[in-house]
Amino acid sequence: MTANALSSRDTAASRPSWQIFRRSATSSPSSRGGNFTRDNYQKFPEMLDALLAAGIDPARLGPVQFSPILPKSGVRDSSSDCCVSCGEPWLMEAIVFLREETLKRGFGVEKPAMGVCMVELTNNLVVNYDGTLYKCPAFMGWPEMAVGTLADGVSDYSVSHNLDIWKNDDCLECAYLPLCFGGCRLLPLLNHGVINRVDCRKEFYDTTLERFILQDCRSHTAKSGSTTCHGPSSSAMRSKVASCFTE
Ligand code: SF4
Repeated sequence: MTANALSSRDTAASRPSWQIFRRSATSSPSSRGGNFTRDNYQKFPEMLDALLAAGIDPARLGPVQFSPILPKSGVRDSSSDCCVSCGEPWLMEAIVFLREETLKRGFGVEKPAMGVCMVELTNNLVVNYDGTLYKCPAFMGWPEMAVGTLADGVSDYSVSHNLDIWKNDDCLECAYLPLCFGGCRLLPLLNHGVINRVDCRKEFYDTTLERFILQDCRSHTAKSGSTTCHGPSSSAMRSKVASCFTE
């Protein structure tokens, strides 16, 4: 379970989502997280301190994952303090900062891993309350992004969702392809009204990936007393990529 416990709507420890987060943290060893904006991400370490002060053992929790808040579904508002591009400097700093603060307190974090937009996965669908089908929950505010209904089945969405957009020379030669596969399809939709380009994460990974890996190595070394750090083998990464596209 991921409890997206705190957001710009709900940051004080006395409010309901904090109490739900705290209760769930003491009851089951699963992953937890929070969603931040440019204006509030620096406050999240207070939540981690409060968890420790409440006697919650980091070892009982799964990875703690913080993600940016995206604009409200179906609305294009570039003036909001939500995330509209993974290349925003504040976002890269926020993610590195929150990872560091999380690890520093003994909590686990997600490691860099293969990522692909669920639009590309044939068997992933979201059903709205009225039976309308979408390829991603974030598209539910955009009726034109519906891909069918429970009654009528799934229509051809290969053009509307620009499937295989990552099969271009730049992406196929990019070292970050296994982590990215063209990024999030919502962001081009928000920024341009159609999915007509990739959400390129080159700048994001150029700025953050080495720092993530060094963070993980430092944390691993501190926990194990080991002097070496072992990441996933390239064959493990390849088989994960293959399994994703055959599910
Ligand atoms: S980082 Fe950019 S070039 Fe590389 S796979 Fe992602 S979208 Fe393509």
